[in-house]
Amino acid sequence: MSPILRKAALAAAALVLLGCSASPTGESTLLLNSPEQMNTLGRQSFEQLKANTPVEDDPALNAYVSCVAHAVLDQVPAHYGYGADDWEVVVFRDDAINAFALPGAKIGVYTGMLKTAQNQDQLAAVLGHEVAHVLAQHGNARMSQQQLTQIGLGITTILLTDRVETRTQKMLVGALGLGAQFGVLLPYSRSHEQEADVMGQEIMANAGFNPTEAAELWRVMAQQGGAQPPEFMSTHPSQSRRIDMLSQRAPALMPLYRQAQAAGYKPQCERLRR
Ligand SMILES: [Zn+2]
Repeated sequence: MSPILRKAALAAAALVLLGCSASPTGESTLLLNSPEQMNTLGRQSFEQLKANTPVEDDPALNAYVSCVAHAVLDQVPAHYGYGADDWEVVVFRDDAINAFALPGAKIGVYTGMLKTAQNQDQLAAVLGHEVAHVLAQHGNARMSQQQLTQIGLGITTILLTDRVETRTQKMLVGALGLGAQFGVLLPYSRSHEQEADVMGQEIMANAGFNPTEAAELWRVMAQQGGAQPPEFMSTHPSQSRRIDMLSQRAPALMPLYRQAQAAGYKPQCERLRR
């Protein structure tokens, strides 16, 4: 192994060791970016989105989304370091069936999602799921995976320098690069989706929302899909498995839901049809 290659391999190994940590449900995960870096990125992306997408100013719609969001955010465990009032919640006027949460405490809900989610419990399921992606640092994990691919690309370039002619080398790196770029467009991994489903459903039950509505939301979404799947579904695939899992987990969460309701967590967010 050439000295330069050895250095690159050591650097990559050190990065992996530094970045490894456990996710909330105990899975080992690679995190190469600090929470501060991720928060900055999240805030920047959110500002860009606000500049490019019309923001819905209908007070009734905003009140509805804010009511559900804050009931959910109130149940985020304190050790994550977020207060319910830290979050900025924006309704975007867009027919796409979509919603997201970003590091830096940002939430966006599209008006298309408000037509799809049939009641406050289903909207809580969407928001619980999206907030869970942030809490579990899935964005960081996904980005770290891409960064690792970039490091791999660097090593491959060095490795190839001595051995193959330049044209072949360019072609090989190009093929890998295409893979790396494709990674940016990929949705969260199946394990991230499952973790967000599990965490989100528990958060919604703790907030006094009916956890059986989580599976119902995905059923509605699957029905509305038709030939062209809604945006949210195209980044959240494998809905039949997810519907099964969410239905199976709901009964065990009913006691949490009833406890929350008995303790006075009875969200009554008024949903207005448009
Ligand atoms: Zn998701």
